Amino acid sequence: MMLEKRTPIPVREAIEKCIQHVKHKNIKTVNYLESLGYVLAEDIVATYDIPMFNKSPYDGFAIRSEASKDASGEQRKHFTVVDHIGAGTVSDKALQGNEAVRIMTGAAIPEGADAVVMLEQTVATEEGFTLRKPFTSGENISFQGEECKKGDIVLTRGTKVTPGVIAVLATFSYAEVKVYERPSVAIIATGSELVDINESLTPGKIRNSNGPMIIGLCKDMNIEVNSYHVKADDYNTLFNVVRDAQVSHDIVITTGGVSVGDFDYMPQIYKDLEADVLFNKIAMRPGSVTTVAVKDNHFLFGLSGNPSACYTGFELYTRPVIKTMMGERDVYPTFVKATLSEDFTKANPFTRFIRADLDYNTMTVKPSGFNKSNAVVAIATSNSMIVLPGGTRGFVAGDTVDVLVNRLSASNGVPW
Ligand code: AMP
Ligand code: MG
Repeated sequence: MMLEKRTPIPVREAIEKCIQHVKHKNIKTVNYLESLGYVLAEDIVATYDIPMFNKSPYDGFAIRSEASKDASGEQRKHFTVVDHIGAGTVSDKALQGNEAVRIMTGAAIPEGADAVVMLEQTVATEEGFTLRKPFTSGENISFQGEECKKGDIVLTRGTKVTPGVIAVLATFSYAEVKVYERPSVAIIATGSELVDINESLTPGKIRNSNGPMIIGLCKDMNIEVNSYHVKADDYNTLFNVVRDAQVSHDIVITTGGVSVGDFDYMPQIYKDLEADVLFNKIAMRPGSVTTVAVKDNHFLFGLSGNPSACYTGFELYTRPVIKTMMGERDVYPTFVKATLSEDFTKANPFTRFIRADLDYNTMTVKPSGFNKSNAVVAIATSNSMIVLPGGTRGFVAGDTVDVLVNRLSASNGVPW
């Protein structure tokens, strides 16, 4: 194999190249309760005004505000209760004078009434109640259409379905909803040193941790993964597995074998597959050899074998591609600024990503443990990644840094 010179491209350019090549998956219709985690493939339009009618936000009495005029502690106003309604029912009375209707939260405001008095603001009498303060027209009424009007676009295509979205679908009677299909993913762990969890660790061997980690990363995104472990560092075996996986999956993720070692076959495989290699070197650490190729709209991610590099490569390149395939509008990671709470003295020739522990309360951040590219534990103990720009020297405690937040975790302290 000839050693090719690789030209590193900036992280941003690499991500953009990936996104530009993504095609949306097809649209399908699912039951609204099954839509969680999918992405809306249609705008959700208000099919009625919400609220649909003027209603009471409290348990109390509907009155004509005019009848409460000049009410005070010395001059209490008397009301006569002429009807009693719960939520879901409508009074057939039209109020006049000092008449009132006993009304429950959510019930429709009766004709003639224009204010609601909370139960706690009344003193009961034989025929009704008395009041000690005047009410204004419209006081304590939830008005028809105050939240949204029929025809309003309340959620747009590209929104990920959360429990809140399901509540909106239920509100507007979307029993079925259009969503984007999920991509199919294959993960292939390569390397003759790898043994799976049920095999014995003979000298020189290591556990395959990247394969299971990527299964987890995908499952977290509600995506099923077919997993392969190619035991032989034998070109033809690996080529056949990658080729078959590429034909039958939207995304093939390999880990390992993407570098310039004697058994690093991935570069040759991309060639023999006649895949379009978008880049094979990125100005980042770890994972500079991360390679992404496209063939027939299917993506091939060649992630580094080093666990921290593999994880970083997935977060930076694979995740936004999966999200874009699934139709999501916001595919880029969340960034915040935080203060380093310990020194990080290494120079950064390339953009550096450090698995990190961010304290959301104080917005301070530090590496989440031993942090070389082969680290495993620091992945598990991290909730974020510190991003240090390329071309910088050391950073010290107190410096402000960019942090990519990719996991929520408990904060140090609560506000109540
Ligand atoms: P490679 O990218 O194949 O040169 O691998 C880089 C390093 O990552 C080597 O030390 C490998 O043993 C290790 N490695 C490769 N694949 C895996 C894996 N699936 N799980 C854990 N470590 C791996
Ligand atoms: Mg290898």
